[in-house]
Amino acid sequence: EIVAQKQCGDDILRAIARREFFPYYQPQFCANSLDIVGVEALARWRHPERGILTPDKFLKVAEEINSIPDIDHAILQSVLVDLAEWDRSGIDIPKVSVNVSAKRLADKKLIENIESAQWARGRIGIELLESIFLDDNDVDYAKNIEALRALGADIEIDDFGTGHASIVSLLRLNPCRLKIDRQLIAPIVNSEQQRRLIKSIIEIGKSQNIEVCAEGVETAQHVEILREMGCDCLQGYFFGKPMPADELARVVRSEKWRSF
Ligand code: C2E
Ligand code: CA
Ligand code: CA
Repeated sequence: EIVAQKQCGDDILRAIARREFFPYYQPQFCANSLDIVGVEALARWRHPERGILTPDKFLKVAEEINSIPDIDHAILQSVLVDLAEWDRSGIDIPKVSVNVSAKRLADKKLIENIESAQWARGRIGIELLESIFLDDNDVDYAKNIEALRALGADIEIDDFGTGHASIVSLLRLNPCRLKIDRQLIAPIVNSEQQRRLIKSIIEIGKSQNIEVCAEGVETAQHVEILREMGCDCLQGYFFGKPMPADELARVVRSEKWRSF
């Protein structure tokens, strides 16, 4: 196993140098109008022998060798290229959210990247995991978050409800969006108790003026229940799996999700 991990680590370093990491995009929809409100960028590895790999095949090793900030950097660079291309071709993508790991949040390159992309001001979301707020107290996350916000980036809390950060510390961040983890969304179809839980999270969001986005929306029943509860934004396989930039452009042009 150690040999395999070492091999994978070396491969990741090579892949970063060869620019093999790039984003897939999963659309997010307004629960009421079903307009696209944004997309989430999700890292993929175009592996020369194994094809397109998902994060479960590389993130753990990448973390061990401290390469996640480099991968996050590569993804943001591609996102900016893709966003500019969609703009050029008249594909309306209001916003792109990227996942940012704890180490990357502490990396000043992130702030520089956002600063140098002011043409996209107000259109970049930064998804932060709840667990970030537990790690490494010596890094001044709050300061970096403020700097990003000042540059027009939206702060979003990812996987809300599965980490261990206190609600107070999360709300102090004043995020513009909470994303409810799909583990909490999946059971709402069959469980009244789970529906009440989600309803409460949506109420927390509304009371604080924070948009609530549900992940893992897999069926029409999910859509109906979440819309009824006042959830703002929906993302999941029901509407579409993560896809390459050009496919997203085709989907947006065809608006085919409206006929579901
Ligand atoms: P996440 O941020 O919670 O991303 C959502 C994951 O759920 C994605 O998996 C997506 O494909 C999957 N998903 C979306 N809709 C559904 C659904 O309806 N049902 C089910 N069962 N799954 C759904 P993916 O792309 O494999 O990413 C896994 C995780 O890897 C992400 O979870 C995120 O934590 C991490 N990740 C992805 N890209 C990046 C990145 O660029 N940087 C960092 N630091 N982490 C990343
Ligand atoms: Ca995410
Ligand atoms: Ca998530």
